[in-house]
Amino acid sequence: MQPAAPAVRDIVLVGAGHSHVQVLRRFGMRPEPGIRLTVIAREVHTPYSGMLPGHVAGRYDRDEMHIDVARLARFADARLIPSEVTGLDLDGQRVLMGDRPPLRYDILSLNTGGVPGAGYAERDCVTPVKPIGRFLPRWNAVCEELARRPMRLLFVGGGPGSVELALAMRARFPETARCTLVTADPELLAEHARPVRRRLTALLSARGVEIHTDFFVGAVDEDRVRARDDRALPHDHVFWVTGVEPFAAYRDSGLATDSDGFVEVNDALQSTSHPDVFAAGDTAGMRGAPRPKSGVFAVRQGPPLADNLRRYALGRPLRRYRAQRRALALIGTADGRAVASRGLWHASGRWVWVWKDWIDRRFMRRFQELPEMEVTPPALAPGLEVDAPDTMRCGGCGAKLGADILERVLRRLPPGEDASLVHGIGDDAAVVRLDSSTLAMSCDGFGAMVDDPYRFGRIAAHHAMNDLYAMNATPRHALALVTVPLMSDALMEEDLYQVMAGAVQVFHGHGVTLAGGHSAEGAELSVGFAVTGAAPEDPLVKGGLRPGQHLVLTKAIGTGAVLAAAMQGRAAGQDLVTVLDLMDASSAAAARILAEHGATACTDVTGFGLAGHLSEMTRASGVAARLQLHAVPMVPTAVALMDAGMQSSLQPNNERALEDFVLHGCGPGDARLRMLADPQTAGGLLAGVPADAASGCVAALQAEGYRDSAVVGEVTTEELSSIDGGGPA
Ligand SMILES: Cc1cc2nc3c(=O)[nH]c(=O)nc-3n(C[C@H](O)[C@H](O)[C@H](O)COP(=O)(O)OP(=O)(O)OC[C@H]3O[C@@H](n4cnc5c(N)ncnc54)[C@H](O)[C@@H]3O)c2cc1C
Repeated sequence: MQPAAPAVRDIVLVGAGHSHVQVLRRFGMRPEPGIRLTVIAREVHTPYSGMLPGHVAGRYDRDEMHIDVARLARFADARLIPSEVTGLDLDGQRVLMGDRPPLRYDILSLNTGGVPGAGYAERDCVTPVKPIGRFLPRWNAVCEELARRPMRLLFVGGGPGSVELALAMRARFPETARCTLVTADPELLAEHARPVRRRLTALLSARGVEIHTDFFVGAVDEDRVRARDDRALPHDHVFWVTGVEPFAAYRDSGLATDSDGFVEVNDALQSTSHPDVFAAGDTAGMRGAPRPKSGVFAVRQGPPLADNLRRYALGRPLRRYRAQRRALALIGTADGRAVASRGLWHASGRWVWVWKDWIDRRFMRRFQELPEMEVTPPALAPGLEVDAPDTMRCGGCGAKLGADILERVLRRLPPGEDASLVHGIGDDAAVVRLDSSTLAMSCDGFGAMVDDPYRFGRIAAHHAMNDLYAMNATPRHALALVTVPLMSDALMEEDLYQVMAGAVQVFHGHGVTLAGGHSAEGAELSVGFAVTGAAPEDPLVKGGLRPGQHLVLTKAIGTGAVLAAAMQGRAAGQDLVTVLDLMDASSAAAARILAEHGATACTDVTGFGLAGHLSEMTRASGVAARLQLHAVPMVPTAVALMDAGMQSSLQPNNERALEDFVLHGCGPGDARLRMLADPQTAGGLLAGVPADAASGCVAALQAEGYRDSAVVGEVTTEELSSIDGGGPA
């Protein structure tokens, strides 16, 4: 088998706008060995503005008008960093973000659109249409109000976006949406031919939309909008639909800009001041060929941008891109019709809408129906294949060795005899007494289960500390063992830095010092930490469960199934973000709260899944447990993914633990039941808490931010543990 070529160039795409989604797709279709792509996206589901008015009118659902950037990035083998860029360090070739360390690039491409236009000021009663990702939640809230009461909706802006949205809202809420449209221009749609202006102005009036021209908004109050000439119009909510402005951080970083402040690019979409920076869409202004800000140009620029990024990385001459002079605008009128306008040419009718709908859906299908990803089968001779493992391995705790393998090996090793060992193999951390101090020690590590090294480092640090928190110990020092795959020196340094920066940030936030470690080249990015800390006199152990106690779980389960689906490009971006946040959450406060509520036994739920870890506890405690399946918090979509066959490579092994349980009202094929075997990375704590303290404990956990924490069962003296599925027994 040919080894994969080492990465030597980092292309970083900022924003998943209309041009970059095409760059991703093109690199997915034709990967370039040696080039690593990274996309930084504020929203992991990027909206397609052409379908926004149709969505507002109720014609398209949310998924139809969004591109799932996580899936697309997986298809392109690109790393996805869900974050917001705040600035650029062009000399240092770094992208700046508010929530993490700067990210290095060799080649940078900007496609972040624009920011809300002139005069916009942040207020609760004003919603800018851009960025659409922020518009949609506010629109949903307005929808709820419109369903209850009439509202005066005021649109600032006289372009096609404003016209389409006003018509769409009237069509969706004909009884309650009272729409007014104001524009600073003497007429609506100033950039369109007169017949188009007339037609749409008449249509708005016929649909009951009030129009005020020469209305330059001077101030927006809570209940009225005032023009500079003292006219005032009442409103219940304002939508800001003026043209976009440039993102000031690009200009402030030193990039050359055009006269309007947008990133100035040449006809290869390359910055005129910084050759390693490219820009497209609303972000860019092309020198000598100014064009209106329109999605049509952003879409058209996608293919030449992809081509030029590749060419620049390979040191080849760049390709010239000629922007068309006039773009075709297709303006939907929310009645199954649309108006087409291009220069002096125009047309309207049902067929125009059918045409627009066809164009928009065809564009979206290219990103929603990605070609299946090929999984290379193991190249073993037929006689050997019988013992071949499934080669699709998961990262994180899904890559743990099966519990039975570990048990067999431990049985073959001679036991260690040491009087200083208080708790040895079998508990979350080893506890040793050295002279007057009692130490807790543990190590944990795994290969990257997410392609964002900084986030991976954070999660690995949480995961390693959890073993100590499960024993109510206080972590103090950590040692690291990191392997980085072979790449150019600069890329290896960057990945090592990102992983360690994430881990150190988490460690420092918990009073833990990174005291040393070892780094090496390896097949994949992986990290492990040995963590040492102070153990209490009476640490919480797995064997401390007592009959009658309630079992409290502090986090939802489901990370294994979602990560397995994400590896195959089958998890939605939002699900990925949900499990990233779940894994990247500390258990320090949870451990304290559990101890304060009298917990006598605890473990962290990791690679063996909830059922496997609970079995360890009941065996060690000589008790049984009754688990209430409906009470176990689960990442909602993880259950559906499991049902669809998305599971961690450890799942079949883990499901053997379910044989320890008697099942009531659920059966082996039940996806919720199988979720109990789903391996968790940086999972929650599972503890036995006195019954009378359990509800107070859960309330305290929830108040501290562990929103999913719940009582999931109880400890019994029955002979066998059981799972109650809630269905007929
Ligand atoms: C209601 C409405 C309807 C429209 N209809 C049409 C139409 O039918 N046809 C047409 O041609 N044009 C239309 N437009 C104009 C069109 O929306 C824009 O011209 C187009 O979206 C520009 O595309 P873009 O790729 O440059 O940026 P965008 O589509 O704005 O994409 C930018 C992406 O970058 C991300 N991003 C932004 N800032 C950051 C940051 N700091 N860090 C990380 N990520 C970031 C955003 O989340 C977003 O995903 C419409 C506009 C509106 C308001």
